[in-house]
Amino acid sequence: MNREQELRHALKALETAKLDRRGFLTLGAASAGALLLQPGPARAAEKTKTSARIVIAGAGAAGLAAASYLARQLEGARITLIDARKEHFYQPGFTLVASGIKPQNYVVSSTAEYVPQGVELIPERVEEFDPEGNKVVTESGKSFPYDYLIVATGLKLDYTAIPGMDEAQIGKNGLGSIYHSPAAASATWQAMSAFADKGGVGVFQRPGTEMKCAGAPLKYTFVTDDYLRRRGTRDKSEIIYNANNKGLFSVPIVSEKVRMLFKDRGIKVNYERTLQSIDLGKRIATFKTADGPADLQYDFINVIPPMRAPDSVLNSLLPWKSGPWAAEGWMEVSKGNLRHARFPNVFAVGDIAGVPKGKTAASVKWQVPVAVDHLVADIAGKQSDALYTGYTSCPLITRLGQAMLVEFDYENNLTPSFPGVIAPLEELWISWVMKTMALKPTYISMLRGRA
Ligand SMILES: Cc1cc2nc3c(=O)[nH]c(=O)nc-3n(C[C@H](O)[C@H](O)[C@H](O)COP(=O)(O)OP(=O)(O)OC[C@H]3O[C@@H](n4cnc5c(N)ncnc54)[C@H](O)[C@@H]3O)c2cc1C
Repeated sequence: MNREQELRHALKALETAKLDRRGFLTLGAASAGALLLQPGPARAAEKTKTSARIVIAGAGAAGLAAASYLARQLEGARITLIDARKEHFYQPGFTLVASGIKPQNYVVSSTAEYVPQGVELIPERVEEFDPEGNKVVTESGKSFPYDYLIVATGLKLDYTAIPGMDEAQIGKNGLGSIYHSPAAASATWQAMSAFADKGGVGVFQRPGTEMKCAGAPLKYTFVTDDYLRRRGTRDKSEIIYNANNKGLFSVPIVSEKVRMLFKDRGIKVNYERTLQSIDLGKRIATFKTADGPADLQYDFINVIPPMRAPDSVLNSLLPWKSGPWAAEGWMEVSKGNLRHARFPNVFAVGDIAGVPKGKTAASVKWQVPVAVDHLVADIAGKQSDALYTGYTSCPLITRLGQAMLVEFDYENNLTPSFPGVIAPLEELWISWVMKTMALKPTYISMLRGRA
């Protein structure tokens, strides 16, 4: 059965009522997971022998996946993975934790679990990237020379760019922030739930920078609206979403759909506003607008900070030197194969890549096999034609029990994985099942190089 047939089979079973909803959850999740586990670009059947030294900076979603793909395809390579963080965070689950749907431990595991055999994990942070000298230097001063470098450091959440913000206060006094960490996502749930009990003014926003999973600010606005309705406090509440530019999402058709849904649900939108500062004691958020600063008094706020490259990348030779991604430090790589424009033995995968789309875990699944294919081809003295087309996916929760499975590419084409079965712009229960049940097993398989 191909992936579409499998999903149709699952849906048919539901339609003919052979399964109750609970039964379908099991079948649906298993099928969807299996479907999403389809292989990426073709991989070498035989291992390539080499003594190349490959350093991977960052052992999150992209770094671990890259290590696994390389370990499967190479024999004899010295692969070194460098990351100080011992815990692994399943970040797509943060929204679920902050919505009271999953416990905090749903998103936390150990990095060591996913490090493939033969790959050395150095528990340190890279302090300096030296692409001219073909080496990285860690915080303890150890130098790691390489033949190939894969940068997978993810991005930095720049809370310090918001005067008045204090990360230690997340969960208190109506302050939420779903991006910060598993503990903050859980604390945000407590704050949002207390807000939903009483009602009031809920303020939501997104930063003006590039960001990971640009659907998450929208999802959390929808979920909060739903909780207020369920608890009977929506009538005495106001929900205000503050967009950084003239749209709600980078893909115009999705932006329009969200605008219509927000309108239906009475969610007010302010366009072209970014959070400038916050007074946590007085619960006042000040936004930068074309007409000068504008204050919003809130009872609950979800703060999503500006995002940029980590300092070690930002201060290196690796970022774009000009253009829209230079100031935030995103790496200057080709959007088709993730190879650095000036240092051909360097690749960037995951959030750190300076490409027009793709800051999601779903994108990592398609980026990593492409970058690895090019790297392995170099070692073998061959050419690779593997291409990353910008695939990005965002299961956009629109209320508890429903989501839109939005998938798109660099050209803003919608690229549904299940055409004719799961409509991308419809609020569907099956898309909710995907987000809440099928994506985590798929993600874990990706870390192990099997998705
Ligand atoms: C709230 C939220 C919701 C999301 N929802 C979704 C979703 O629904 N679907 C989806 O596909 N994606 C979603 N994402 C995005 C997804 O989690 C990221 O795009 C993905 O994790 C990117 O992988 P990465 O490896 O680039 O970065 P990360 O997974 O963040 O890993 C980066 C790693 O690099 C390490 N590092 C940093 N600096 C250094 C250094 N100097 N030296 C060494 N190591 C370093 C860090 O410690 C970390 O372990 C969401 C993210 C958030 C926060």
